[in-house]
Amino acid sequence: MAQGIQYLCSKCGYSIEAWSDGNPYYLDKAGQKQYAYHPDHESLEKCIGNDSPFLCLACGKQFLVDSNNPTDCCPDCGSKDISDTFILNGKSCPICKQGKLNKDSNYSVIS
Ligand SMILES: [Zn+2]
Ligand SMILES: [Zn+2]
Repeated sequence: MAQGIQYLCSKCGYSIEAWSDGNPYYLDKAGQKQYAYHPDHESLEKCIGNDSPFLCLACGKQFLVDSNNPTDCCPDCGSKDISDTFILNGKSCPICKQGKLNKDSNYSVIS
C-alpha cells in the first residue's frame, strides 16, 4: 500500500505531492525499464530497483533518482541541495526561498 502526502509552503502556497514507496521497477526481456504498480504483485516481485522522486531545493526541479545509479546533485542546476520528496518537512521552499515546507495534515491519499 502506498501512502500519498502533500507538503505546502508556509509563504507562497507552493505544494508538492509525495508517495511513500517511489517507483519500483524491473527490466523486461529487452532490458527496458518497466514500472510496477500496486496491486500488480507479480511485477512487484521482479523489481530490482526503485526510482525515487527528488526535489532540488535550489531550483525546484523534480526528478527521479535510480537506486541502482544514485546521484547526489540536481540534473538541471547541479546543486547538491536535493531531497527525497517524502522527507521535505521543514525544508526551505525552492520557489520563494522564504517559506518552509510543512506537511499538509488535511491531505492524505492511500492507493
Ligand atoms: Zn514558497
Ligand atoms: Zn536544481
